[in-house]
Amino acid sequence: MSDWFEETVDPRLRLRLEILETLHEERHGLQRLVLFRSPLFGRVLALDGAIQTTEGDEFIYHEILAHVPVLAHGAVRRALIVGGGDGGMAEELLKHRTVEHVTLVEIDPAVIDFSRTHLRAICGDAFDDPRLAVEIADGAAFVADSRENFDLIIVDSTDPEGPGEVLFSEAFYRNCRDRLAPGGVLATQAGVPFTHPQTLRRTGAAHRALFADASCFLAAVPSYSGGAMAFGWASDDPALRQTPVETLSERFAAAGLATRYYTPEVHRAAFALPPYVSELLA
Ligand code: SAM
Repeated sequence: MSDWFEETVDPRLRLRLEILETLHEERHGLQRLVLFRSPLFGRVLALDGAIQTTEGDEFIYHEILAHVPVLAHGAVRRALIVGGGDGGMAEELLKHRTVEHVTLVEIDPAVIDFSRTHLRAICGDAFDDPRLAVEIADGAAFVADSRENFDLIIVDSTDPEGPGEVLFSEAFYRNCRDRLAPGGVLATQAGVPFTHPQTLRRTGAAHRALFADASCFLAAVPSYSGGAMAFGWASDDPALRQTPVETLSERFAAAGLATRYYTPEVHRAAFALPPYVSELLA
């Protein structure tokens, strides 16, 4: 009989993944960490029972959340990632040769150590790139204390429970806004709207209160059950969300990216919101 991993995030919905092999399990100070191999997703990392990333579908999540803001903005030199200890987001951002510096603020050093050893297919050589600076800190405290400016801030956090909860607060988003250079973009993990509408509702309301332009973009990530996932978009430059596909195509070609999910057309389509999603932002 096979073993199964059952995600326990939502009491109303259970996602079960077959386990070929459990590679690692540890309960340290901050979060319970499990790594297993699944026939469908390859290596899967779960924290406190919630799937964080998988070798099989990480490209969807990381490509859409990194390349949409970078290519819409067009001149990102300095970026901040809050969370993202698996290194997948840093790897995507650093593919842009125009990105000069990335700061990654992760609260749990075990996730980084672990990913460097066991999730090379996801983080690649990102942690060895001299353009990446890693800070071990609570992202909310880091942003509140920082005096640096960033062209892009990506919040690649766990769900709004436990240590990730603070990364969905209006106070945190306000501090992010204050750290953005003029015309900068804030892009955030905003949950699956079908199962967790309150996450997007709350994120959208906070972003609208703080920024001239706020919306979200969507991508279906198979290991996050419940349909398309939403990513919050906030900027004081409304033109960035409307960047024409021709401009995106020129930038995409110039960046020389080989992608499996992102294309300029997918980018534009990701902002087309079905009413059950746009109603949450109204
Ligand atoms: N793609 C994933 C998802 O949506 O499930 C997120 C992946 S990434 C591994 C999330 C990271 O955020 C975790 O490593 C966690 O330790 C980190 N994290 C949670 N709360 C944080 C906080 N307050 N400050 C910085 N990092 C935090």
